[in-house]
Amino acid sequence: MLKTLLEGKRGEVVIRPSDEAEVLAVLAACVRHRIPVVPRGGGTGNYGQAVPLAGGAILDMTGMDRILSFADGVAEVQAGATLLQVDAWARQQGWELRLWPSTKRTATVGGFVAGGGAGVGGITHGTLRERGNLAGVTIATMEPKPRLIDLSWGKAAPANHAFGTTGVITRVRLPLAPAMAWRDIAVSFPDFPAAAAFGLALGLADGIPKKMCAVIDWPLPSFFTGLAELLPQGRPIVLAMVGAGAMGAVAELAAEHAGEIEAEQDFAAAEASPELTPFYEYTWNHTTLHVLKRDKGVTYLQCLFPVGRTLETLARLRERFADELMMHTEVARFGGQVTMSGLPLLRWTTPERLAEIIAACEAEGVAVANPHVCTLEEGARWKLVAADRLAFKREVDPFGLLNPGKMSSFRPLSGQEAAE
Ligand SMILES: Cc1cc2nc3c(=O)[nH]c(=O)nc-3n(C[C@H](O)[C@H](O)[C@H](O)COP(=O)(O)OP(=O)(O)OC[C@H]3O[C@@H](n4cnc5c(N)ncnc54)[C@H](O)[C@@H]3O)c2cc1C
Repeated sequence: MLKTLLEGKRGEVVIRPSDEAEVLAVLAACVRHRIPVVPRGGGTGNYGQAVPLAGGAILDMTGMDRILSFADGVAEVQAGATLLQVDAWARQQGWELRLWPSTKRTATVGGFVAGGGAGVGGITHGTLRERGNLAGVTIATMEPKPRLIDLSWGKAAPANHAFGTTGVITRVRLPLAPAMAWRDIAVSFPDFPAAAAFGLALGLADGIPKKMCAVIDWPLPSFFTGLAELLPQGRPIVLAMVGAGAMGAVAELAAEHAGEIEAEQDFAAAEASPELTPFYEYTWNHTTLHVLKRDKGVTYLQCLFPVGRTLETLARLRERFADELMMHTEVARFGGQVTMSGLPLLRWTTPERLAEIIAACEAEGVAVANPHVCTLEEGARWKLVAADRLAFKREVDPFGLLNPGKMSSFRPLSGQEAAE
């Protein structure tokens, strides 16, 4: 659906600033000539977030990748630094990122804030929107005289997951977590309900440190190049990152659910090795990517299962859409409660069938963020952009030149209003 919509949409010039003064100079020139600007990090965003709908300039932020400061467990970094780079640096100080997307190697910190927000670490820390996970951002405005504005804690919300429509993020302040030695494990189960029950139990096991837990139905593991050969045929799996010192407790929990540990590796060594794949690169949307590499007939959904009814709801949807959905969920915390974020693979037929499946999920109390649309409104649960975010945009981008079209309910100032 998005391919048809976004085909042929291109920027006309790529600009790669190396500091904030250059960002401000570029934005001033673009405002003067009413040229749209689409900020871009690693370009890994889904839903065509970074695809320019109205041409203009692509503002490549990867030239701004410095770590600026670190105090009291909070790092301030330039927006174009990759999450891999920031995590590697944090580990040298005895700290680590709380959250990262499975695209950690190429995704930038600014792109994660503007375009993503969930991922590895979510089982312990929730999403980036959880209070306390984002200490602040500095944004450059798209006004006739662009300014830098510093937004701390909750005040940074208008820039969080706004697809770059509410300012160019130049710096991000990230609260970190104390570094842990993590172990990647792959556990197989006789059936999907056992795998899902183990996943949720691991999420609720407060004594076991964990960073990730993906529950993946068969045949999806058969698509995992580099891992599939270590896994038994026909068995659903859980891929998890757990504290190396807690392996005994994890093995007990797995055995209670009839799970067999099929593969394990040191996470840090796997991430650093050119030959190995850290297991998080089979999870979140990488699960989808591995399947798409070999089967172009599938796509996916993004679901949030209801707390307290996670396993029952999951079982019902899996059974009802057995021929169309291949189940994949990630155990995650939301508002302090543990549930699952679902990224099931979906066998593509028609837009009408997609809408029917989404409606059926919603009728079960599953919140669906539709990944087959490219505006903030269509992708949101309430199908709108909050009034305070619209007001913020009016202040920082009055002409609607930042990633135009992605916040579709925004009405830019007319020429006459601007003159007044
Ligand atoms: C295989 C795969 C797996 C993924 N897994 C995850 C996951 O686990 N969790 C998750 O959250 N996402 C995931 N994503 C989505 C994406 O990788 C992440 O959101 C990532 O953090 C985006 O970073 P980026 O630097 O590539 O951003 P880009 O794709 O370059 O940009 C994303 C959006 O942010 C805007 N933007 C970028 N930089 C700035 C800036 N400095 N200021 C203002 N706006 C900016 C862009 O205009 C665009 O709208 C996945 C995507 C793929 C393809």
